[in-house]
Amino acid sequence: MIIGGGPSGLMAAEVLSAGGVRVDVYDSMPSFGRKFLMAGKGGLNITHAEAHDAFLARYGARRPNVEPLLNDFSPAALREWVGGLGVETFIGSSGRVFPTGMKAAPLLRKWLHRLRDAGAKFHVRHRWLGWREDGALNFATPLGEQSAHADVVILALGGGSWARLGSDAAWVPLLERRGIRITPLQSANCGFDIGWSEHFRSRFAGQPLKSVVATFTDSHGVTHLRQGECIITDSGIEGGLVYALCAPLRDEIAARGAAVIHLDLLPGREPQRVLAEVAHPRGAKSLSTHLQSHLGIKGVKAGLLREAVPKEDFADPVRLAAALKRLVATRPIDEAISTAGGVAFEALDAQLMIRTAPGVFCAGEMLDWEAPTGGYLLTACFASGRAVGAGALAWLESHPGRNADSPAQT
Ligand SMILES: Cc1cc2nc3c(=O)[nH]c(=O)nc-3n(C[C@H](O)[C@H](O)[C@H](O)COP(=O)(O)OP(=O)(O)OC[C@H]3O[C@@H](n4cnc5c(N)ncnc54)[C@H](O)[C@@H]3O)c2cc1C
Repeated sequence: MIIGGGPSGLMAAEVLSAGGVRVDVYDSMPSFGRKFLMAGKGGLNITHAEAHDAFLARYGARRPNVEPLLNDFSPAALREWVGGLGVETFIGSSGRVFPTGMKAAPLLRKWLHRLRDAGAKFHVRHRWLGWREDGALNFATPLGEQSAHADVVILALGGGSWARLGSDAAWVPLLERRGIRITPLQSANCGFDIGWSEHFRSRFAGQPLKSVVATFTDSHGVTHLRQGECIITDSGIEGGLVYALCAPLRDEIAARGAAVIHLDLLPGREPQRVLAEVAHPRGAKSLSTHLQSHLGIKGVKAGLLREAVPKEDFADPVRLAAALKRLVATRPIDEAISTAGGVAFEALDAQLMIRTAPGVFCAGEMLDWEAPTGGYLLTACFASGRAVGAGALAWLESHPGRNADSPAQT
């Protein structure tokens, strides 16, 4: 029995079906893979083509836990697997890997078809409610509450962001009640609130802020630096550059209540050169025209400068070389791309089986790891789905002859 029909649950279903096991996949939603489809909306970044060691480094403190999964199912193996579904992939200029066509829907359609052909049974609108006293699993279904026993259970219930797509983290108290250690869920790959003035917000919300360098020094004195793009939102900033700094910023905000990020609007230009350009006599020209013609500062960058630099400092050329902004809070968890936290690896064995619940495995975003955007999330979800599939197969082989009665019975 697999509960959760996202990338990790479906991957586990594939491994088990290929091993000749009857698989029933349950999901609370009316269809499978809704978050996966959403991920494909802006271009499905399925993995990344960078060197294996650099790839592994993206999982930060959880690298030791994620590394064995990715050694068994690497980004290259994932691309091959996608190719096996008849969907080609390509490497973008940033090293990110996408399916041709960029969308998730063709891939998901072919995958579900192949899983059905392999014998997997799908049960939509089955919301898992927890365990009964006798060990059966309870579901809320359109026909009322139903329950089922299974020889082996894989939980692949996702994180807590974008709850309307199905992953609402309602599993957290269900596992906690069984004494399973859960690290509290937190926003990952989320935007940050800044609190723009109405003037700035009304003119620039929705606009990209291109090619800036963001630096942030945490309270341990460690400086985090990223170059890239972000989007000005109604309440702050979001996008790749911000997501890359998300984890340390979030931790700083949790510890101190706020964090300060410095934006360099002119990366690659020496401060002395910028100073010389700003200080260059401008005659009758306005300062805005001068900054635009000498440094290319216009549009949202000019607006940000006005927003961040106090009026009285504006005549000081040095202060015009970079904008400073104070970030005050993370966005609500539901708006984040993914969540950090989840089932603690310490509660699991090497096959990702819950130590205190033999025969119950966990996979995907519900595990306590996080990574930036760039294809690292999906790659680890697929790899962990594969690992639990293999673990469950091994478990079934060593515990034969038990009775399962799924699909769920009233
Ligand atoms: C807008 C957006 C864009 C993204 N883009 C990318 C990207 O380009 N690249 C990338 O790598 N990652 C991306 N991600 C992240 C990626 O989609 C997720 O990390 C991934 O889908 C997680 O897979 P999963 O199988 O662990 O969980 P999910 O895909 O969340 O699936 C979990 C499933 O469990 C079901 N479920 C939950 N609770 C219950 C219950 N109690 N009973 C029954 N069923 C239940 C849900 O309905 C859901 O179908 C994006 C995410 C978002 C929100």
